Amino acid sequence: MIRYLSDAPLGRCCTFLTGGRAKRLAFAYNADELAEAADSGALVLGRGSNVLIGDCGYAGDAVINRTNERVFEGGVCVCDSGVLISSLAREYMERGLSGLEWAYGLPGTVGGATVGNAGAFGGCMADSVISAEVLAGGKIRTLSADECVFAYRSSGICGTVIRVTLKAESGNKDLIRAESENNLKTRRDKQPLGASAGSVFKAADGVPAGKLIEEAGLKGLTFGGAEISEKHANFIINRGGADSGDVLALVNVARAAVYDKFGIKLEREIKLYGDFF
Ligand SMILES: Cc1cc2nc3c(=O)[nH]c(=O)nc-3n(C[C@H](O)[C@H](O)[C@H](O)COP(=O)(O)OP(=O)(O)OC[C@H]3O[C@@H](n4cnc5c(N)ncnc54)[C@H](O)[C@@H]3O)c2cc1C
Repeated sequence: MIRYLSDAPLGRCCTFLTGGRAKRLAFAYNADELAEAADSGALVLGRGSNVLIGDCGYAGDAVINRTNERVFEGGVCVCDSGVLISSLAREYMERGLSGLEWAYGLPGTVGGATVGNAGAFGGCMADSVISAEVLAGGKIRTLSADECVFAYRSSGICGTVIRVTLKAESGNKDLIRAESENNLKTRRDKQPLGASAGSVFKAADGVPAGKLIEEAGLKGLTFGGAEISEKHANFIINRGGADSGDVLALVNVARAAVYDKFGIKLEREIKLYGDFF
């Protein structure tokens, strides 16, 4: 049986490093533990790299997905949803398998990336997913890629992703390595260091949200310990000592400023959980 810690610091398990405590928190190290926690209603998180947890905490159970099995055979990879997508991309690179070059250096788990159809550099999860085992209503169903209903930074998956089967086709090892490493370098060059959850907003009809926020004059704006990054305006960073309220204030300011200047309503990419007030 999975073991919970009471009154545990959920915010510390997320990449913003802000936010309060969960009523109970567990870590799932295998698919049975993950299914048990999810089935009893726990909030499932991977690396918490796309979420903001309220400062007043989460008044329920949460489970951090640390499942980590993967098997390569016959041109596919069957992997647990808790596998880190960047470590999988590295393994693809080392084995000369193509398809995850875009994901090298991407924080988060395969499960989180699948549910949100994470993507970068022209690639995304939808390009690789063959099927996903999803727990909902006490039953695990295998959804085909079509049934996952992938769209830009979203999917139609309702439930907990337990395992994912991904394409893993052999390619030119040198080219795969060069592309993966180039993508990692671009990430390092263009994205700020510091605690964040990546892009705060989705692109608006193809226009990068960062460009709109920058043109609204908000680069470098600070509130408490949080800052709209000087380097990339769609990133809010915790400069140290920020709380989730500081981050949320900047989210709201950015959305309002972009609406005032361009009449565009930015849609949040990061998900909010828990109580903020
Ligand atoms: C520095 C930085 C750079 C980033 N760059 C990119 C980028 O280039 N492209 C991009 O798309 N994203 C990017 N992100 C955002 C983030 O890394 C991805 O969205 C990632 O896929 C989230 O995975 P996670 O495991 O951390 O999900 P979490 O943040 O833990 O969860 C996100 C959501 O998915 C749900 N979820 C998580 N696991 C499961 C599961 N097994 N089953 C069902 N639901 C689940 C959670 O409940 C939550 O609603 C970046 C983040 C950071 C910090």
